[in-house]
Amino acid sequence: MKKIYLDHASATSVDPSVLAFAEGFLKDGYGNPSSLHSVGLKAKRVIEEAREKVAKLINAEGTENIVFTSGATESNNLAIRGVALRNVKKGKKCIASAIEHISVLNPMKSLQKDGFEFTLVPVDSYGIVDVKKIKDVLSEDTTVTSVMYANNEIGTIEPIREISKMIHHKALYLHVDATAAAGHIPVDVQKDAIDLLTLSSNDLHGPQGAGALYIKKGVKVQSLLPGGGQERGLRSGTENLFAIAGMGEAARIAMIDMKDKSEKLKKIRDRLIKEILKIDECFLTGHSTKRLPHHASFRFSRIEGESIVLNMDMYNIQVSTGSACSSKTLEPSHVLLAIGLKHEEAHGSMLLTLGTSNTIKQIPAIVKAVKETVGRLRKLSPL
Ligand code: PMP
Repeated sequence: MKKIYLDHASATSVDPSVLAFAEGFLKDGYGNPSSLHSVGLKAKRVIEEAREKVAKLINAEGTENIVFTSGATESNNLAIRGVALRNVKKGKKCIASAIEHISVLNPMKSLQKDGFEFTLVPVDSYGIVDVKKIKDVLSEDTTVTSVMYANNEIGTIEPIREISKMIHHKALYLHVDATAAAGHIPVDVQKDAIDLLTLSSNDLHGPQGAGALYIKKGVKVQSLLPGGGQERGLRSGTENLFAIAGMGEAARIAMIDMKDKSEKLKKIRDRLIKEILKIDECFLTGHSTKRLPHHASFRFSRIEGESIVLNMDMYNIQVSTGSACSSKTLEPSHVLLAIGLKHEEAHGSMLLTLGTSNTIKQIPAIVKAVKETVGRLRKLSPL
């Protein structure tokens, strides 16, 4: 059977036009953007053009607000540790929602070793952050608060504008991880008054190995990677020309295609949700309407997510059971526990994330494979 790939939250294919645009920079168009000769200057121009395209995708004030990194994990680390350590004189408190990606939670936890107080804010059963709780824990000495634009495991979209208003009323900076959301729903750093925002190239159908951090003018950040002083001194190291050029082009295409693509994927998503929820003891995780257009996530009682992934793969359909970054542990997802699921409930999760290769015609094959997989696994289940 032909492959049906439904794990776009873990990795996406590189858009063919992105590849066509950027592959030259791996071949004869290479060059170090710090070199003074014409080849170096051309490479520098390529990076600056990419910066402009990324800035446009999120309506940043200008190109000077964008710092390229190696990906979302690095951007999250730079935003959190970089801001916390640079602003110690203003306070030593940081806050994150309980469903943040591990690359946000771990830098926050690591700050505790530097004497910071770290507070986790709960979410409701749909994964929506408790805005009142944020208000209660915020104080003048809270330097960085991190709430994601939308969650990668349950697809829920957060009320960022409301959170942003409250933070700026009582505390310092809001960092938003928009890795899962950008390219799928409009993200506007100016309208939402966001101070720092994380983006990942591969989540936009760009090459792996590039990411970006938006930093609002005036926000002070400490570099975590000292060296040659590239990227305004915030991220040393020779730039990954191919990946950055590709990320820029992917951002440009995402902006043009977003509306049509989201509408198409939303239709597939809704049909999949409708059909899969007909299975006995199957539940949607995350919000039914405030969710990403390409995202469908479920839990099934009495089965294990890992077995679902392996069984679905026998149909040549690739799904996920949670964040690929946490798949090395057998612990249930912290996101599913945070929305109130019991350990045994959180183990039976299945996540379908759609991309450009998916079509409405694939739905019957996907639904059939899920039904057969669930039936087979339940027969084998000791529960
Ligand atoms: N944040 C979110 C919301 C993610 O989904 C991911 C993984 N795609 C990351 C951060 C980390 O991305 P990466 O592993 O590419 O650094």
